[in-house]
Amino acid sequence: MQREFSLQYVRNIGIMAHIDAGKTTTTERILFYCGKLYRMGEVHEGTTQMDWMPQERERGITITSAATTCFWKEHQVNIIDTPGHVDFTVEVERSLRVLDGAIAIFCAVGGVEPQSETVWRQADKYNVPRMIFVNKMDRPGADFFGTIKSIEEKLGAKAAPTQMPCGAEDNFEGIIDLISMKLITFRGAETGEDLQVNPLPGECLEEAEHHRELLLDTIAEEDEPFMELYLEDHEVPESEIHAAIRRAAIQNKLYPALCGAALRNKGTRLLMDAVVRYLPAPHEAKPVAGTHPKSRRQESRKVADDEYLSALVFKIMSDPFVGKVSFVRVYSGRLKNNSTVYNANKNKRERLLKLLEMHANDRKERKFIHAGEIAGVVGLKLATTGDTLCDESHPILLESIQFPEPVISMAIEAKSKADKENLMNALERIKQEDPTFKTKIDPETAQLIISGMGELHLEIIKDRMLREFGAGANVGKPQVAYRETVAGHAEDEYEFDRQAAGRGMYANVKVSVGPLHRGTGNAIENKIGKKNFPKEFARAIEQGIHDSANTGPLSGYQMIDVKTVITGASYDDDNSTELAFQAAAATAFKNACRKAAPVLLEPIMSVEVNTPEEYLGEIIGDLNARRGKIRSMATRKNARVIKAEAPLAAMFGYSTAIRSLTKGRASYTMEPAYFEIVPEEILKQMS
Ligand code: GDP
Ligand code: MG
Repeated sequence: MQREFSLQYVRNIGIMAHIDAGKTTTTERILFYCGKLYRMGEVHEGTTQMDWMPQERERGITITSAATTCFWKEHQVNIIDTPGHVDFTVEVERSLRVLDGAIAIFCAVGGVEPQSETVWRQADKYNVPRMIFVNKMDRPGADFFGTIKSIEEKLGAKAAPTQMPCGAEDNFEGIIDLISMKLITFRGAETGEDLQVNPLPGECLEEAEHHRELLLDTIAEEDEPFMELYLEDHEVPESEIHAAIRRAAIQNKLYPALCGAALRNKGTRLLMDAVVRYLPAPHEAKPVAGTHPKSRRQESRKVADDEYLSALVFKIMSDPFVGKVSFVRVYSGRLKNNSTVYNANKNKRERLLKLLEMHANDRKERKFIHAGEIAGVVGLKLATTGDTLCDESHPILLESIQFPEPVISMAIEAKSKADKENLMNALERIKQEDPTFKTKIDPETAQLIISGMGELHLEIIKDRMLREFGAGANVGKPQVAYRETVAGHAEDEYEFDRQAAGRGMYANVKVSVGPLHRGTGNAIENKIGKKNFPKEFARAIEQGIHDSANTGPLSGYQMIDVKTVITGASYDDDNSTELAFQAAAATAFKNACRKAAPVLLEPIMSVEVNTPEEYLGEIIGDLNARRGKIRSMATRKNARVIKAEAPLAAMFGYSTAIRSLTKGRASYTMEPAYFEIVPEEILKQMS
């Protein structure tokens, strides 16, 4: 089947903002206008929808979905939900991974808030092209150019205002388009009526010309072809200006900046025009790269329907109507309903049943989902967030989303026999949805252990289990999920030689271990001659090392950042087995680690506290007492923002502590940053 929207008319965008900047309001306006335009084109859709009062329609619109499809003029726009809260940054990161561009909303009064800064930096990390929307121009104190200046200063971003407001606060009457040099007004904006395009009033002319000059200069600095045109003749055609902004925006060289007041229906339609004009289509965004799941060689895919399939599962949600929906971004090739795909992470085939285009207030079944599109898939059983779906004969592992390691764990058990099955179901479901949540059975105590990103994370999960799955559970005290690593180098050789069931078991393995940079994970290098050594024994050695790394030599915590080199191995034709090699390798590895100065690592959290000035002293004193290091301090409006790093072990119960220190007036976010060696004196207290 042909695609309804050719690639160049597809946009996958996210809307990101500090809480309260107006993300929900803006999104609803966008969906409202988009829905309205789309319906107008679809005569057979029935008139009932069109007869709805706009306000009523509006009320019915909410996005609760991980991705919502809507239509703007000749474009299909998929809006990916990006959470405003950064308590669990991983949520933001995973949406940034699958969108091609974003609208960053700022409040014209508040400017750059701490959270907008965090989210902006994350988008930098993924090189996401962005547009700036300065919202709430109708509010007292609204200052468009002031906000632009704070964006440039605090975020180091080159903003390119393509508009300026005409009036502000109560007199925010219209928007001046600095490219066409027209004044756009919104008569009847309450009901979403047409925009009026007017000539520029004389009193605005001079200021508008000044800002137009600045805009063209900015573009010329970032785009060579434009610079040449501009130097030749200052009267560059509008189409060339748009094209140059687009080129520069796609390369993250500048960020087109617009203004409006979403609540008053002012500016959101111009914003959508700019989205489709300046933000990249899927094939213009970052290239699709991955690795071959077996050979590990680099693989790439063109964003095209006739390529082999590659698609990323980026979120799994329970839907009230259809059950489990996996949200998938198709990068190349296409998905077909009622077909089988290959899950490269799980090395299994999976059947997908239905493909759904998710709308604001309904959904449409699709037969195909084409390259560059985003949709919900019903029927996937094995896939978890971050998995790649592809063509089995041409497999690829797309670069997965980076999820931090869990840092906190606690024992959990069902309250009653009846709860037990529900509990296991609940844990399984939550694990599928949330890749930062893990479970395991403690090998020594046989207790069920859950782990996650922080106390609050596990608290929310416990709550969900009861509410959504009816599973009552008792939990133990939260514990720090420590890790172990080695600080030095050492070698060990182990010979395994036994008799079992009348048969000999023989293996000899020699390994050396040493430290790797923090955060690299474990690595194994095999230096034994590949030619005359059986492959299955080599694999068994690696497996033995891998398993042994699960319980470190100090206290049985997972070992990380260890490099192991297999330096020698010998076997005997009659008596060697894979099991013998696994056992020999595990012991050699453990012995080597014991000799290589093993150390205990603890998770360090990055903490951001927002507090009224008067509690600054108490907060800092308390953080110091918790082995915290203050990294920076800033003033935001009448509050202070403290950024610090502190070991998780010392941060238990922080939410209660900060509440009582500040009478509930301070807020904070906390997330895992990295692992660090536990200091000597703390080790002594622990033992
Ligand atoms: P979110 O937290 O970013 O999703 O922000 P919301 O869309 O929920 O908006 C937060 C508050 O700001 C709400 O009370 C909105 O009514 C209000 N708001 C949003 N846009 C505007 C605007 O353009 N002008 C004014 N005056 N208020 C707005
Ligand atoms: Mg909201």
